[in-house]
This record gives sequence, C-alpha cells and structure tokens, in this order.
Amino acid sequence: MSGSEFDVVVVGAGPAGSATAALLAERGLNAALIDRAAFPRAKPCAEYLSPEAGRVLERLGVLIRVRERAQELAGMTVVSPAGRRFTGRFAGAVPFRGFSDRGLALPRTVLDADLVAAAAVRGARVMERTRLERIGGANGRRTVEIRDGAGTRTLTARLVVGADGLNSRVAEQLGLTRRGRRRRVAFVTHMAGVAGVADVGEMHVGRGAYVGLAPVGPDLVNVAVVLDARGPIPGSSARERFESGLHRFGGVMERMRHAEVVGPVLAAGPFARTTLRATADRAVLVGDAADFYDPFTGEGVYAALRGAELVVEHVGDLIERDTLSAEALAVYDQARRDVFRSKWLIERAIAFAIDRPVLFERVADRLARRPRMADLLVGVTGDFVPPRAVLRPSFLAKLVL
Ligand SMILES: Cc1cc2nc3c(=O)[nH]c(=O)nc-3n(C[C@H](O)[C@H](O)[C@H](O)COP(=O)(O)OP(=O)(O)OC[C@H]3O[C@@H](n4cnc5c(N)ncnc54)[C@H](O)[C@@H]3O)c2cc1C
Repeated sequence: MSGSEFDVVVVGAGPAGSATAALLAERGLNAALIDRAAFPRAKPCAEYLSPEAGRVLERLGVLIRVRERAQELAGMTVVSPAGRRFTGRFAGAVPFRGFSDRGLALPRTVLDADLVAAAAVRGARVMERTRLERIGGANGRRTVEIRDGAGTRTLTARLVVGADGLNSRVAEQLGLTRRGRRRRVAFVTHMAGVAGVADVGEMHVGRGAYVGLAPVGPDLVNVAVVLDARGPIPGSSARERFESGLHRFGGVMERMRHAEVVGPVLAAGPFARTTLRATADRAVLVGDAADFYDPFTGEGVYAALRGAELVVEHVGDLIERDTLSAEALAVYDQARRDVFRSKWLIERAIAFAIDRPVLFERVADRLARRPRMADLLVGVTGDFVPPRAVLRPSFLAKLVL
C-alpha cells in the first residue's frame, strides 16, 4: 500500500476515533487516524467517566496512567430545583457490580492525548492538524480529501469511520443526519477554590438548566453549565454566558464565593442533531457522530469507547473481506441498537423529567427516601446496572407514586 492508501481512515481522534483506530490496528489493519486538532487539546465536557469506561481503558492499555491522574468518584449526587438531594453510589446496595466501584474524573486534555498515543503505539498512523474536507468514492474505495499544513491531498480506504463528534462532517456528507428538537447549549471550565466538593459528581437541576460539578484534580473542579438555548442567555462571550448561567443556581454560587475560573470557558451545542443510522456504503459512524447523549448522564465517553469495540467486533472481519456495502454493515447498526437502545430510552426519560419541574421534584423526593433505587438508577448511568432493572413497571411506579 502507498502512503495514502489505507484499510481504514478514521476521522476524529477523540475517544471514539482513537479507540477504534487502536483496536483496528491491533487487529493488523492499516489504519489512519486524522484530527484537525493537535493533542493535547481541550474538549467541552464535564470530564466524568463511568465505572465501566475503565474496562475499555484497560483493554486499550491506558487505565493505569489515567488512574494516576484522575480523581475517583464514589457516586453521583443530584439536587433538584427545590433543593431535594439524592445520592446514588457505585458500590451501593444493589446486586450488580461494575468493572470498578469508582468512576473517574480527569481533564480531557490528558485522557484524549493518552488515547491518541495508544492508537499510535498499536500502529495506527496518526495525522494531527489534518482536517477532513470531503468524502467521495471511486473504484470500490472511499476517498478522503484532507487539508493539512502542506495543502490538500487525498487518502483512499476500504472504509471510512466518522468519529468527528457532535457536528460530524462525515455524517452530514453521507446524508445520515437530520435536525433534532432538543436544544441545549453548554459552557464548561475549570475552577479552583470551590467549597464543599467531595468524592462524588454533582448535578444541580434548575429550570431548563443544570450545572455539573466534578473534581478533576487537587482543588480543581470541572464546572459545566447546560442551558436551554431557546431562552435568553445574557452575555456576549462564553465566559459571560457561563457566569450568567451559574448565577441561576444560588446554592452552587454560595460555594463559589472564594472560587476562581482557572481555564478557558469552552462552549458546546446546541445539541439539536440526530443521526438516522450509523452506516452507509463503506462508512460507519461511532461516538457522538453516531448519536449524542445528553451530558446529564455523563455517558458519552463510555458510549464512544463501547462503540469502538462494536466497530471492531462487527466490522473488523468485513474490512478484511472487503465486504462493506451498507447492507453488509447493517449488522453494526443492529449491534448498536441492541447495546444502546435502552440507554437512549432512559436518557430521553431523564431529559423529559428535567424539563418538567413538578415531575422532577416528585422523582427526586422518592429517590431521596429510597437510596437503593438511587443506587440502581446511578448504576444504570454508570453503565454496569442493566437498564431493564429500572424500566420495570414496579420501579417506575415507585418513582412517581
Ligand atoms: C457539556 C458537555 C458535558 C459532557 N460531559 C460528559 C461527561 O461528564 N462524561 C462523559 O462521558 N461524556 C460527557 N459528554 C459527552 C462527551 O464529551 C462526548 O460524548 C465524547 O467526547 C464523544 O467522543 P467522540 O470521540 O465521539 O467525539 P469528540 O470527543 O468530540 O472528538 C471528535 C474529534 O473529531 C475532530 N474533528 C471534528 N471535525 C473534524 C474534521 N472535519 N476533520 C478532522 N477532525 C475533526 C475534533 O477535533 C475532535 O478531536 C459531555 C458533552 C458535553 C457537550
């Protein structure tokens, strides 16, 4: 193969793309991994990893390094608009155990750079500062037009993997997206001096908004403000909008009296796009490019890593056999549905409740009184309790009655 011919070109080197490239290269495939950014690079994210994410990080050989620089989280605390509070513990009183009894929180600059390095170590050809311009197809191959410091050139591949995130250009160019209805925007930064931070992640829900707090280092807290983009958000810069959003949360603001912002404020969203399916001829999507999780459940990184495993498991031998029509790749769509469908349902149910304060207060009240139910629900978002455990009619009835 020449320097521009690959078995697979993976577009985007976030967790989904790096993990996919690493696992395909490990299988002996000739994989290129391109990203418009140079690593380490920041990514707007609340920077919490569910306990089950550790399993895939271990498979990728980065868990020890990641753990060394991460804070461990014992669970999640949720605070309702009226101040009702419940905590679900990962090592709670439930008959399920995850890969670990702890979640992890660490800056994405660190995590993502480690994952890119893991892909390179396994033999993927990493091309940073390289932007996807256009995807085409010719002679039974995908063509990938890229632009880097030297200009524009074309790579060819049997398969293109679109791992280019929320506003995936790959998905758009392949006609796999449509506009969704939900519209939230997020502003995220790191702060020092936040009072009362313990070894749990926190979600504070307000009207049409929520704030996440996660300790990501010694006296360093990730603060993520997520707002309904349909309402007014005072401020012209990301920093001003972050601050005006945060001021809606009196309880959180009290703990910020001596706190200061110690990094850039990053903006993301609006999250309003949905993907019709994750496959086309000689192309698959993975991670946020395939479907975006509302940040509330903090599952995006796990879904990205798990999605990478599904690509390798279900598409790996199709690449080797060069059988990559949309029909042949439908097995990957099906596998994604099997693994993620129940989680999509729960995510939608949580988003529904967040937008309905009366319902949310009722659910928060029930979960505050029934810690085992809170453990189960947080275990589902931690990716180690099967969703069916909370989709049972008896569980749902106890939540609202
Ligand atoms: C506010 C917020 C909070 C969140 N909090 C959490 C959380 O606490 N826990 C959690 O698990 N998830 C969280 N998520 C979700 C999580 O950030 C994503 O699900 C995760 O980053 C998806 O990984 P990915 O690899 O699919 O995409 P990304 O991490 O977005 O990576 C995509 C990559 O593609 C590259 N790219 C894009 N376009 C091009 C192009 N044209 N050419 C070349 N490269 C390109 C980008 O530079 C980027 O590096 C949050 C998301 C938001 C917005």
